[in-house]
Amino acid sequence: MELGNSEERGDVEDRRGSKKPLAIGGGIGAIVIALIAGYFGIDPKVAQQVVNGGGGNTPGTGKADGYKDFSEKILGSTDSVWKEQFKKNAYKNHRGAYEPPKMVLFSDSVDSEGCGVAPSAVGPFYCPASRKVFLDPTFFEELETKLGGSKAEFSQAYVIGHEVGHHVQHLLGYVVTDEYRRLDGEKNAGIRPELQADYLAGVWAHHARDKLKINEGDIAAALKTAKAIGDNRIQEKMGRKSWPESFTHGTDTQRLKYFKQGFDTGDASEAALNRFFDKRVKSLDL
Ligand SMILES: [Zn+2]
Repeated sequence: MELGNSEERGDVEDRRGSKKPLAIGGGIGAIVIALIAGYFGIDPKVAQQVVNGGGGNTPGTGKADGYKDFSEKILGSTDSVWKEQFKKNAYKNHRGAYEPPKMVLFSDSVDSEGCGVAPSAVGPFYCPASRKVFLDPTFFEELETKLGGSKAEFSQAYVIGHEVGHHVQHLLGYVVTDEYRRLDGEKNAGIRPELQADYLAGVWAHHARDKLKINEGDIAAALKTAKAIGDNRIQEKMGRKSWPESFTHGTDTQRLKYFKQGFDTGDASEAALNRFFDKRVKSLDL
């Protein structure tokens, strides 16, 4: 991938270094972790463990590390791709122009302005209430060292693309209703938005491919990350056997399949997106 001096820039606020006090040890902290850990497929128990272990707060997280610049360029690229796709597809649920999300870089913990205060350990997430993507860049160290993912540039871009996917989903009104919870079971209904977000990340990458010079190696890195964060892999890391009933965000096979499908087709039509919320198909069969 080559970002060069890409002129497309998203709206990124760098809040790193400004500490937000966080009470850990049950109560609100635990609830917030459980709620938010879901957004990127990290098992809340893993997140809780990381928090309790006190790890993760890498000192020296500087504002001069170029991460703001990087995020602005990736977010800017998603802005321009989704602007184009919203125009082209004229979605029933969203007639107007695409409204880009904002992104906030943070360290330690952050006030998500509507989804509670979140510690870094929950990983990147999107808050629909504030329409913002939140990310602590030190997550990528954990991703590589603890979860077996990749911190390669494009892998990080994919993670941003996935969170922006949740924003697109929010704008288009895709939500897990009680009907889906009945159909899939409480735990598995969440697979639908996660796989759709992976697919949307793939669609973004398809349309950004030429401009950002995305190559095979980049895609391999993203696939490695998609695989690393599948629920069954995280469970294996926890020393447990994986069992389908407890999958909440899709298996690694499902995540790979849909990121790749989005990347190969670039199809953001309503029909392509509706598939993830097709009531005739159970989430585990997607
Ligand atoms: Zn997600």
